[in-house]
Amino acid sequence: MTAQTAEAREGFYQQLTERLEDTRRQGLFKQERVLMSRQGPEVMCDDGVTRINLCANNYLGLSGSESLVKAGQKALEDFGFGLSSVRFICGTQGPHKELEARIAAYLGTEDAILYAAAFDANGGVFEPLFDEQDAIISDALNHASIIDGVRLCKAQRLRFAHNDMDDLERQLQAAAGARHRIIVTDGVFSMDGTIAQLDRIVALAEQYGALIMIDECHATGFMGATGRGTHEHHGVIGKIDIITGTLGKALGGAMGGFTAGRREVIETLRQRSRPYLFSNSLAPAIVGTSLAVFDELEHSSARREQLHENTAFFRHEVAALGFTIKPGTHPIVPVMLFDATLAQSFAQRLYELGVIATGFFYPVVPQGQARVRVQLSAAHTREQLTRALAAFAQAGNELGILKQG
Ligand SMILES: *Cc1c(COP(=O)(O)O)cnc(C)c1O
Repeated sequence: MTAQTAEAREGFYQQLTERLEDTRRQGLFKQERVLMSRQGPEVMCDDGVTRINLCANNYLGLSGSESLVKAGQKALEDFGFGLSSVRFICGTQGPHKELEARIAAYLGTEDAILYAAAFDANGGVFEPLFDEQDAIISDALNHASIIDGVRLCKAQRLRFAHNDMDDLERQLQAAAGARHRIIVTDGVFSMDGTIAQLDRIVALAEQYGALIMIDECHATGFMGATGRGTHEHHGVIGKIDIITGTLGKALGGAMGGFTAGRREVIETLRQRSRPYLFSNSLAPAIVGTSLAVFDELEHSSARREQLHENTAFFRHEVAALGFTIKPGTHPIVPVMLFDATLAQSFAQRLYELGVIATGFFYPVVPQGQARVRVQLSAAHTREQLTRALAAFAQAGNELGILKQG
């Protein structure tokens, strides 16, 4: 290596260092919190302090639960640690087929296919099903994995303004020349807890002969009368063509994703979806434990009811304290601070007071829409939520967010 080539190579590392410093300067550097305990309504942090956790996607409180640890131990014992294979070579065990059937039955579809993550499910769903003759019409705020999946596909891409049904209709008309049109939306949007208007989307899809795909990562297991998701919430079970979702949030929180839909869709994905064909099989302990999750979901509504009760309680009480929240019913509760610096100081003060809740600000949310996002869990006790609310009140008073008197 000459001095010149060495310098050229060093330039790469220099560039990364500068960009990282830039990120830090803009206050956008993401620090990882290190937990020393299981996931749960309270967690022990690496300073030895136990804090109330209001920022996990642990909606049903299953993530650290004893019953799932037991189920995981049994699955590990019966089916081993790993498969060292993709599904179609020698990586499919009985429980994988069983879990796919359970997911399909739960969602009301014909079949389902497992992935290592919902990110992979979304990344691998479009390219095998659509090509340049087709059009994908996507909500502007859809999850990053949908955006990436659409990019990997040759179909024409159209975006409709977030949750805007008039604009969706315009885009359906704009794509009139396409062979197949598919409307794609998150069932629930993670920043605001906004629930997609699937009743209206189904009506438009029927009017224009379009297909529908929804991403149910923030819905499966607890939305709708029996927890099946946003399609149940809006009374459109059986009218959604493709449903993607995760095992990594409400359903135990380990990892894994799925796509559910008609038999010919799922069979096509098994033959052609690249993250499925070229990536390892889901670990037996996750598969076996997920089966136990579906047993629990189908035999008891207690966790779902507790989650909704906790959500209603927290939403009511935090608003009564004088905070502004985005109205809604979802366990994602955006507590609006509007100002980025204030949102950061507020989250920091909550942390000192024993509560973990994450501040979000531009560019993650629009300019002037900074907030602390709270996520409720069925595992939160009333006592924990009351303590958390006291911390909100104290921090709110100290930082002048709440008007006194
Ligand atoms: C979390 C999330 C994903 C990714 O799920 P993983 O299983 O963790 O990869 C995809 N879509 C949405 C809407 C999500 O919230």
